[in-house]
Amino acid sequence: MPVSRLLIANRGEIALRIHRAAHEMGIETVAVHSTADADAMHVRLANHAICIGPPAASESYLNTANIISAAEISGADAIHPGYGFLSENAQFAEIVEAHDIVWIGPKPEHIRTMGDKVEAKRTAGALGLPLVPGSDGAIESVEEAARIAEKIGYPVIIKAASGGGGRGMKVCNSPDQLDTLIKQAGSEAKAAFGDDTVYLEKYLGNPRHIEFQIFGDGNGNAVHLGERDCSLQRRHQKVLEEAPSPVITAEDRARMGGIVAKAMADMGYRGAGTIEFLWENGEFYFIEMNTRLQVEHPVTEMITGVDLVREQIRVADGKPLSFTQDEIQFTGHAIECRINAEDPWTFAPSPGLVTAYHAAGGMHVRVDSGLYAGYKIPPYYDSMIAKLIVYGRTREGCIMRLRRALEEMVIDGVKTSIPLHCALMQEPDVLNGDYSIKWLEDWLAKQAS
Ligand code: ADP
Repeated sequence: MPVSRLLIANRGEIALRIHRAAHEMGIETVAVHSTADADAMHVRLANHAICIGPPAASESYLNTANIISAAEISGADAIHPGYGFLSENAQFAEIVEAHDIVWIGPKPEHIRTMGDKVEAKRTAGALGLPLVPGSDGAIESVEEAARIAEKIGYPVIIKAASGGGGRGMKVCNSPDQLDTLIKQAGSEAKAAFGDDTVYLEKYLGNPRHIEFQIFGDGNGNAVHLGERDCSLQRRHQKVLEEAPSPVITAEDRARMGGIVAKAMADMGYRGAGTIEFLWENGEFYFIEMNTRLQVEHPVTEMITGVDLVREQIRVADGKPLSFTQDEIQFTGHAIECRINAEDPWTFAPSPGLVTAYHAAGGMHVRVDSGLYAGYKIPPYYDSMIAKLIVYGRTREGCIMRLRRALEEMVIDGVKTSIPLHCALMQEPDVLNGDYSIKWLEDWLAKQAS
């Protein structure tokens, strides 16, 4: 039976994004929401809406029992988790499937393997992906860490096996810091993820963050949809993403894309996934895999013309991939700006009432957002309130259009990161595509001094 009523276990722009794809396929949607989100756009647009709890995410958007009950009550036959919240929770995926509800996501065992970054690296290595040099598995003792660090050379980075969102990472420059930093990383990881397992990697000096979008049918077929460059980061979190990467050649794309697609095919991976690499001096180093749709997926959609959410729903429904590798063509250039409700320079959150709202428009301009004038941005969730995605036939054309679109955006009543994006679009290094994962922090430090 094809999916006919889809429950969207998320909020904000991604809930809208999923609703739109579903509606275009003739599928009804069920929104779930916390009491703080009763007036949210994703609730207004869905065919049905069910309140699943109070504002705290732990009691609403992460409340498995209430979400499953909402699916049962509304007669939903599928659940899409979006990104964040329960999207990479293997147990939730199993519970959904145990209720005979279609899980729009990868097989639970793959979510579990890739969710443990130590296990993910081991699996990626076995599948033939190049890894960042480091410990083979979890670090058992400071002595062991010291031996490995000595071998690969300082600086090294201590990372949490269950880490995510750039948290639980410590850069260590010399042996005398190792003990303290391992303990700190472990206790931070324990507090954030309930697991103090850490591992160790060579800290690359000046890499770019380059990730490949992949798609598998779960039966041994998989394709890649090219790369995204997400090197503009603050505190290991992405600020702006583009596709294609300014430094990756068509040959590199075909070669590395081929390797990741084959790895995913061998694994029997199902649905959308992202393989993240650091890239330095022409070499790729695997860091992690995300077994879900990414915030930055629209830049891939813009240059390939593929609707990734539609494809997720189709594949979850047991249909074959709707394209072969040869049919994926890369045309033009796309950039996404993440617009947050925060001070553009101090990054202090700025929730509150949106008094006026006007989205940019025109040819090749896409705004994914649940904003409207009169909407009150709640303080309880992620500060991202909109994504501005712009396409151009060339990178230069894309940047010209992005400047114009940023000027058109009006979000009054709260502070936003639009001024930061406007400033970035004037920076020669950004215009030349000449930046690494360190660039933005260095630039911000200069602006502040
Ligand atoms: P998370 O799951 O928390 O996002 P990742 O492993 O994806 O963690 O790393 C997030 C970011 O941290 C990367 O994009 C990069 O900027 C930085 N980073 C991670 N590993 C390394 C490393 N070995 N060397 C240098 N930077 C790193």
